[in-house]
Parts: sequence; structure tokens; C-alpha cells
Amino acid sequence: MESLWRKETGEIKTQRKKGERARDYAGTKYDVIVIGAGMAGILIAYYLQEAGKKVLVLEAKTIASGQTERTTAKITSQHGLKYSHLLNTIGLEKAKLYAKANEEAIREYERLIGEKGIECQFERTTAYLYATEDERPLKEEVRVATLLGVDAFYTEETELPFKVLGAVGFRNQAQFQPLQFLKALCKELTILEQVKVEKIKGHEIFTEDITFAAETIVVASHYPLKNVPGFYFLRQHQERSYCMALSGCEGMDGMYLGIDGEELSFRRAGEYLLLGGCGHRTGRQKRCYAKAKLEEYMKKYFPDAKQEVFWAAQDCMPHDGIPFIGRYSVFTPNLYVATGFQKWGMISSMVAAQLLRDEICGIRNDYSKVFTPQRLHFRAGKQEFLIDMKESIKGMSRGLFNREAPRCTHLGCGLHWNREEESWDCSCHGSRFDKNGKILDNPAKKDIRF
Ligand SMILES: Cc1cc2nc3c(=O)[nH]c(=O)nc-3n(C[C@H](O)[C@H](O)[C@H](O)COP(=O)(O)OP(=O)(O)OC[C@H]3O[C@@H](n4cnc5c(N)ncnc54)[C@H](O)[C@@H]3O)c2cc1C
Repeated sequence: MESLWRKETGEIKTQRKKGERARDYAGTKYDVIVIGAGMAGILIAYYLQEAGKKVLVLEAKTIASGQTERTTAKITSQHGLKYSHLLNTIGLEKAKLYAKANEEAIREYERLIGEKGIECQFERTTAYLYATEDERPLKEEVRVATLLGVDAFYTEETELPFKVLGAVGFRNQAQFQPLQFLKALCKELTILEQVKVEKIKGHEIFTEDITFAAETIVVASHYPLKNVPGFYFLRQHQERSYCMALSGCEGMDGMYLGIDGEELSFRRAGEYLLLGGCGHRTGRQKRCYAKAKLEEYMKKYFPDAKQEVFWAAQDCMPHDGIPFIGRYSVFTPNLYVATGFQKWGMISSMVAAQLLRDEICGIRNDYSKVFTPQRLHFRAGKQEFLIDMKESIKGMSRGLFNREAPRCTHLGCGLHWNREEESWDCSCHGSRFDKNGKILDNPAKKDIRF
């Protein structure tokens, strides 16, 4: 399922000269090796290189071929009903830092794109959260977001083709074409494609047949590669969501996300309108097909529209609702990670790039208090932790006792057949395999042998 961005941009070329093999890069000790060439990996590599580090990026497939090419590419600090949740769980000071880090990331995108003259349809606009069933949580969100310094307002008027009870607007947010943006940045970086990392030990990175070395290693592989230490598989799950690009309908200026129903998302992208939603935990498909459901909405709200492209993606959802950006674990001083972007990885990748550049260059950054993977937010995410535990126990039992379901090569959970996408999906940690057992999505690293 090719996304609109990929269709428009095609393949992103690397800088490698003809005849150069990945092996030719293995003799050098780099200051930093970044694993993964998605939005996170590329931005982290770019800012570290700009700070004077010698950087190499290793990518298992091709540039931006992970979740990044399937995003809806809103750049916003509005992450659902985030701020009322953060105020209640991590307190005023840290909630303020979360908002500030994200607002700064929007400005940094604008500065970088302007300075480099990157043509990627970047535009400032308002992001809206809307409600069709109960508007009260939105009123609280506006109050808290304003308290935290966000330029937020409440309204009942929107451009949506249906009646809403209320909406929260955040002014001065943005949207762009993510692959056009990456295409420009990648020209300046050294990226090796088709190089899949199998193992990291100390300062060394092992693929099937090559060993690379770096003073510092950053894992930006979407789902972290190592189970231990770090234990990220106990701290987040994955959610899958769907998107279509429609032609022949009126565009909208704002970007929209629903807090109820199928949490439908809308934004304009050039001549198209992007309609998204129908999300669920990976491996736990709803009874009806997401594509059919979105088509129903398309016909209902945009009867003259034509569906041009349909695609799906998934993201890591940390229990406390905050990305993990910082040291991989207390036991690995030279290893860093950026994950847990909860479907807001465009902006979180920029936050990660700024934060990791500072940490790796020895500069104090206040935001690490919020995003550090070593945080202990006891009040946040207790319920999500319990749900994930229950799902993992069910998945492991399915792996042990259900002989009809293949087992995930990550931790042995029993997989679920996804009829819509014809894949085997894991509801514990979100790995996916095609019908022949080939990996589609991590954390699994090995294919299934039927
Ligand atoms: C439906 C949907 C809509 C979204 N819309 C938005 C939005 O509007 N705004 C927003 O901010 N965010 C959005 N997101 C989230 C955003 O798309 C992701 O958070 C972001 O793309 C993740 O980027 P990444 O670089 O971490 O991961 P990826 O893009 O997946 O990149 C990771 C890379 O690592 C590589 N890799 C993996 N394992 C290895 C290995 N062993 N060796 C070498 N390389 C490896 C992969 O091949 C991949 O290229 C959305 C997510 C979904 C699901």
C-alpha cells in the first residue's frame, strides 16, 4: 500500500558513489551511528552532524520506508487530550516543558525549511480537536493548554462537513510533505540502505556480515532493537490506523482530529484531502474492514470525492503517553533511543533530534526531565500497563497452546490473521509478517518459517 507521499516523491536517493559497498564504511570509527532512516533517524543524524560529529546512518530497507512514509504529517503540539492528562499525572512543571518542547519543534521546522529553502508544502495552520458526543473534556483541555502557554481557543464553528458539539483550536501549528522534506536533508548525510542491524554490543554494531563501530549509537528503528536492557516491550504497545487521499472535494484550511467515534482525522495535502482514522491495537482488528468503514465516511461526507490512495501505518504507544528520548538504559552510557511517538512522530522526531544532539554533545537540556526513558511516572499509565500485561499473557498462551496460529519471532506470542491486509499480526508488541512469514513491522527481527 503506497502512500500519497511516496507516490508523489518516489525513491529518495542516497549520496553513495557507484561501486561503494557498505563494507567500505566499516573500517572507520564514527562519532555517532544512527540506526534507522525514518524521520527520527534522519533528523537526529542531521543535527548531530551539524554540531560537528562524524555520523553514519544504517537503514535495513530504504530511506523513510518505515512508518514515516505513511504518516499524515501534521506538525503539532496538539496530541489528543494530552495536556489535561499530563497535568494530572506528571504535574504543572513537566506538562509545561512538554508543551514548550513541542511548540519549539514547530518553530525549528519552520526555521530549517526556510533557511534551506526546502520545497515541502510547509504551511502554518490551526490544529483542531473536535467532539461529536461530549464536549466537556475539550473545555478542560483548552483551560489546561492555555495555562501551559499554548495559544489555544474553544469554538463550535469548524469547516467539517458535519455538526460538532465543540472544538479546541491550537493556533500556529503546521503541516508538510514529509518525504520532500527528507529528500532535501538526506543529500547532506551518509546513509547506508539495505543494512540490517542484528546486534549491538558496547561500541559495535553487527549486521549479518559486517561490523561497524561508533563512540555513540542511537537506536531510531521505530521499535527499539534490544529487549534487554531497556525493557521497552513492557512499556508500550503498537496501534494501527488507516488513511486515504481523496480528490474532487473541497479542501480545508485547518487540521482536524476527533476525540470520539472513529476519531476521524482530516487535513488538506495539495489538491487532496486526507481522511484517516479507524485505529485499533495492532493484532486486534475490528470486525468490519477499516477501508470499507472509511469509504462509508467518504461517501457520507464527500459524496463527489474519489479515493486516490489508501494506506495504513502503526506507532508505539507508551503507557504514560510520553515518548522515550534519551539514554537507552542506565547500563548503556553510549547508547541512546527515540521511540514511543504515539502517532505524533513528526514533531517528536524534531524534539528527539534537539534533545539527543544536546545530550550527546554534553549540553544540558531541560526537556530531558520529561522525555528521559529512565523516568518513573508512577501515576501515569498504570491502567495501560495492566492492559498490556493481560494482552501479553493472552498472546503467550496463544503461542503455547494454539497450534493453528504461527508464533511471533519476537517473544513467541500467537499471531492473529489480518484478513484486510493479509498479514499475521501480534497483539502483544505489534510485530507483523506477510502471508509468507516475511517481516513487515518490528520489533521482530526474524521471518517466520512455516
Ligand atoms: C496513521 C498514522 C498517522 C500519523 N500521522 C501523524 C501526523 O499527522 N503527525 C505526526 O507527527 N505523526 C504522525 N504519525 C506518527 C509518525 O508517522 C511516526 O511516529 C513516525 O513516522 C515514526 O518515525 P520513526 O523514524 O521513529 O520510524 P520509522 O519511520 O518506522 O523509521 C524507522 C526505520 O528504522 C529502520 N529499521 C528498523 N529496524 C532496523 C534494523 N534492525 N536495522 C536498520 N534499520 C532498521 C526501518 O526500516 C525504518 O526505516 C502517524 C502515525 C500513524 C500510524
